[in-house]
Amino acid sequence: MLKNKTAVVTGGTRGIGFAIVKKYLENGARVAVAGSRQETVDRALDQLTEYQDRVMGICPDLCDPDSVADAFAAVRERFGSLDILANNAGISSRTSLYEYTLEEFSKILDINLKAVFVCSQAAARIMKEQGGGVIINTSSMVSEYGQPAGCGYPATKFAVNGLTKSLGRELARDGIRVNAVAPGVTKTDMVAALPQEMVERISAGIPMGRPGEPEDIANAFLYLASGQASYVTGVVLKVDGAAMT
Ligand code: NAD
Repeated sequence: MLKNKTAVVTGGTRGIGFAIVKKYLENGARVAVAGSRQETVDRALDQLTEYQDRVMGICPDLCDPDSVADAFAAVRERFGSLDILANNAGISSRTSLYEYTLEEFSKILDINLKAVFVCSQAAARIMKEQGGGVIINTSSMVSEYGQPAGCGYPATKFAVNGLTKSLGRELARDGIRVNAVAPGVTKTDMVAALPQEMVERISAGIPMGRPGEPEDIANAFLYLASGQASYVTGVVLKVDGAAMT
């Protein structure tokens, strides 16, 4: 479904991001795995040796426009294009409002929101020149309902939906589609870090009776990146087993 396409996946070293990387590679794409440290990128690449001709690693500072532009230029140089950007890197929070420091709030805004803006801008510049492309952001089911602690996290995901819908409209004329996937509870390190009783309580409320697997989410990233979604833009696609927090 993605033959001859080049994708960058931020936070591609583990969890949902790594599942997206594998899904894109299985479907013929060339993929740049973007991670925060060379060491974690190398570990991810070690698990992808069968695709070594079509996979590379990059470690830009996602909030630094120059660093991101240089990394994306290196991807284009190696693979000849940049057609798909999966903005997946993110951190979560459970801190109560009373304990929240400005530093923690700024950090979550940086990684979950500012990085999406910086990477989208750098990718769109290349995609416009090429005549089109696809940007897919990672939202969350809490972007609809909020959550009872860690207000910074849903705040960033509401904002990601806003960026998605706005850029979907703004970039349509340049042939660039912009969509988001809103996962429900998905079995990754992010969820492993939550108290077990909380995971059980949330899982019990999922009509489909189970949390999501990273591959469930990666399948949505595949659809939105592919030509099958050629008339889909500005959409936030829920992949959450009909969960409601
Ligand atoms: P994870 O913690 O397993 O992976 C997060 C990824 O983001 C890692 O690869 C990490 O290296 C990267 N990252 C974190 N900080 C970074 C930084 N400063 N610079 C570069 N990369 C950085 O989490 P996950 O569950 O796979 O989450 C992936 C995305 O899915 C996130 O945006 C998250 O908000 C979203 N999400 C997850 C769930 C869930 O239940 N797991 C639900 C809804 C949305």
